Amino acid sequence: MKGKSIHYDGKTKCIYNTDVEEQVIIEFKDADSKFDGEKKAKFKNKGILKNTISHILFEFLQGYNIPTHYNRKIDDKQMLVRKLKMIPIYILIRNVAAGTLCDRFKIEKGTILKYPIIEYYLKDDKLDNPMILESHAYAFEYADPEEMKFISRMTSKINAVLKSFLERRKIKLIDYKLEFGRYKNNIYLADEITPDTCRLWDISNGSLNDSYFNLENNKAEKSYQEICDRLTGN
Ligand code: ADP
Repeated sequence: MKGKSIHYDGKTKCIYNTDVEEQVIIEFKDADSKFDGEKKAKFKNKGILKNTISHILFEFLQGYNIPTHYNRKIDDKQMLVRKLKMIPIYILIRNVAAGTLCDRFKIEKGTILKYPIIEYYLKDDKLDNPMILESHAYAFEYADPEEMKFISRMTSKINAVLKSFLERRKIKLIDYKLEFGRYKNNIYLADEITPDTCRLWDISNGSLNDSYFNLENNKAEKSYQEICDRLTGN
C-alpha cells in the first residue's frame, strides 16, 4: 500500500499504520495457511473473500455488543481496525470433534461435543504454539485473571451467536480460533474470523456426513466463494 508504513508484516495479513495513532489497517493476503492440522490453499483473490467474510462476521458480532477491533471495510482487501496490544494467546473453540482433538483423544471425527471445549494456545511459532492452561497465562503474565475471565465470557457468547448465525446459512461451525487484544483498560476481539481460522462443514444436505468445504487444494476458491455467498445471502 502506497504511503503507509508497515506496522507488522505477517504470514497472511499485513498491518499498516495510519495517520491516527489508535487505528491500523489490516490487509488480507492471498497466502496459504494452516489451522489445527487443516491446510488452506492459496489462490488469487483469496484476500478479497477473507476481507468480506471477516467484515460480515465482525459487524454481526458487534450487533450483539461484542467489543471488537473492527471499524469499517476500506476496500476489497483492507479493513480499518483499532490498534491493539495483542494478548499472545489464541483461543480454540471446539463444537464438534475434528483435527488434532481426534488424534489426541481417539474420538471419531464428527462427534458432537456435549459442551464446547475451549482450549488456550500460546502464539509462538518457535515453540510450536503449545497448549496452555489459564494458570500459565497468569504465571507468565500473558493476561491477568480478570482479563481471562472476560475473554472466557466473551468467547462463550461469541460461540453461541456465531454458531446459530452460521447454522441458519447451512454452515456448521466445527471449531475455530479467536484472538483478543487490549486498548487502554479494555479487551477487544481482534484479528480475523475467516475460513482460514475456522473449520466449517456444509450442512446444506441436512447432515454432517461427507460435508466438508474443501479448502486444501484447487477446490479452495470455490469453497471460499460458496461460504462468502451464503453469508452475503447471494
Ligand atoms: P502471523 O502473526 O502468524 O504471521 P498474521 O499474518 O495473521 O499472522 O498477522 C497479523 C498479526 O496482526 C497477528 O500477529 C495478529 O495477532 C495481529 N493483529 C490482529 N489484529 C490486530 C489489531 N487490531 N492490532 C494489532 N495487531 C493485530
